[in-house]
Amino acid sequence: MIRLPAFSALLASVLLLCPAVARADDGDIVVQAGHEGRPASCVPHHVKACNVGTSGGGAREQTWTAAVADRATQVLREHGYTVIRRPADYDEHDTARAAVFLHFDGAPACASGASVGFPSTTSRAFVDAWETRYRAWFPYRFVGENFTKNEHEYYGFRKVDAPEKMLIEFGEMTCPAQQRWMAPRLRAMGDELAAFLMEQVPR
Ligand SMILES: [Zn+2]
Repeated sequence: MIRLPAFSALLASVLLLCPAVARADDGDIVVQAGHEGRPASCVPHHVKACNVGTSGGGAREQTWTAAVADRATQVLREHGYTVIRRPADYDEHDTARAAVFLHFDGAPACASGASVGFPSTTSRAFVDAWETRYRAWFPYRFVGENFTKNEHEYYGFRKVDAPEKMLIEFGEMTCPAQQRWMAPRLRAMGDELAAFLMEQVPR
């Protein structure tokens, strides 16, 4: 025989301990700032490879990704979009029309540049539109698509259902020339990203 009140209490306590099953969000766009919230978020989310990101010129990648993500989110919201703004680690599984995951690269100095990563479900048109826009603005190298396994199989892709998902590396922080060019342009970078998303995901 099941004593229902006791069972309900047990179920409630299990749900409280497992926020992963408790919430999901719907929105137009998911904007994730790479590495944001780490390392503090790794232990509670059981993240074994706690990659806190790169740095350059005295700045940290996670500060830059958050700055670009916050600006893009602000512009999109001003234009009426519903934006789900995420850090590196979170429990929810989201549903959206597009999802972008923001990063800056670290490499042997100036061996890298801008790049993108995406799963096979992302459309060629979405990727091409970003590359065309960003190459016209960013004056350094565009090093390629899915050029590492990490870019192609990024863990964030599995946390959202969206027809268009893309990881963006805006440039190489460990290259002094690129770092100096990008440092005063994080807000403009957010504007570029928002303009791209509004063009690709019309309201
Ligand atoms: Zn990164």
